This record gives sequence, structure tokens and C-alpha cells, in this order.
Amino acid sequence: MRTGERKRTAALIPAAGSGTRLGLGPKAFVNVAGRSLLSRSVAALAPYVNEVIVALPEGLELPPGLPARAVVGGDTRQESVRRLLEATDADTVLVHDAARPFLPEHVLLALLEAVPETGAATVALPVADTLVRQSAAGDWGELTPREGLWAVQTPQGFDRAALLDAHRQAARDGFAATDDAGLLARLGVRVRLVPGDARLFKVTTPGDLALAQALARTLDEA
Ligand code: C5P
Repeated sequence: MRTGERKRTAALIPAAGSGTRLGLGPKAFVNVAGRSLLSRSVAALAPYVNEVIVALPEGLELPPGLPARAVVGGDTRQESVRRLLEATDADTVLVHDAARPFLPEHVLLALLEAVPETGAATVALPVADTLVRQSAAGDWGELTPREGLWAVQTPQGFDRAALLDAHRQAARDGFAATDDAGLLARLGVRVRLVPGDARLFKVTTPGDLALAQALARTLDEA
């Protein structure tokens, strides 16, 4: 890159899931307090990046007015993200699940600051609950110390070329991960942990949706 040339950042939103656990059709299109999860996620990211790209289920289109463009997603989240990475030439990418519609500005700014340190950073939350592995009978089994454990959220920020390389290697090795930071960590890249926020929970179950409705009303009124 030439001196003085600004780095370009793209927000990549995998939103091609079927939303099976919620049972309301493709989850990104589910409304909370009058706006879809996808529209909320795009609106949170768009002011901070050069472009927003969304992976959608085949046959679906972006709702009009969203400041984003779309690509067709894949069979898995990992495949959807790989397609998103191939759809941009940005230097830096922020990968964010459409299913996490409440993204506080201070968290996003902290992430953007952390990414250049190692080229990989994720938002995550220190685990607050007691953790226990169930026994063979499904009861209380082995206690797992929670010290030093973090629950990984999104957004996650990366040097695009490094993440694309990690995706291609994972595809070659048949390695599957539930997030993108895991693909770089397996190659020995240091992934910075940026403190997240409880409001970044992933809307997965009907109970989460009730929580999201209540939070959306509060935030929209503020
Ligand atoms: O299923 P899960 O909640 O883990 O999905 C996380 C995110 O990945 C969701 O935003 C979902 O739409 C997206 N996804 C995707 N392509 C798939 C499966 C999931 O973009 N094939």
C-alpha cells in the first residue's frame, strides 16, 4: 500500500441461515419492534465502514433502502463468510452475525482499534456463570473453572487476505469452526480479545426473541 493511502474496511454479514431453532423463517428477516434483525445490524455497522455486504439465502433479496449489497450464501456459515470475503477487496473486514442486532458503538470502536495489533480481534464476554459438564446420566458432572473463559461474540475484525487464506486452508483440511477467529487461531495467529456487551447476545431461541423485542423498544425510545 502506498504511503498516505487509506485502508478500506468492509462489514461482512452472514445472514443466510434458515433460522430453524426460531421457527419463523430466515432469521435475518425476523422483525423486532418493527425492524428486521438484518436492518438493525446493517445500520449499526454502515457508518463505520466503506461498504456492507450481506450473504442471503438463495432467492431472497435485500429489503429496499438498506445501505448494503448482497451475495448468495453457502450451505454453512463458514461457506457464507468465504463467499463474502471473495466479494470484496477491502484491506480489513468486520464479520458480524445478522442475528446480533444490538451492537453498541463503544464496542465497535474498541474492536476497530484492536484489529491492527495482530490482524485479528474478536469481541467476547468474560463468562459470569458457573460452568459444569453434564454426567453420562445428564446430571451435574465435572465442574469447569470459569476463570479466564470468554464467550465469543461478533463482530470479529481481520486483515482480509489473512482470513481468506485461513478459510481456504480450512476448506482444504475439512476443518469446520463456528466462527472466523477460530480459523486464524488454529494457524497460530494471535487473536486479540475485546470486551463485548451482554446486549450483543445472539437471537437464537424464542426466549431470545422476547428479550430482543423488549430491548429494541427501550433502545428505539431512547
Ligand atoms: O445458525 P447460527 O445462529 O450459528 O448462525 C450464525 C449466523 O450465520 C446467522 O446470522 C446466520 O444467518 C448465518 N448463516 C449463514 N449461512 C449459513 C448458516 C448460517 O450466513 N449457511
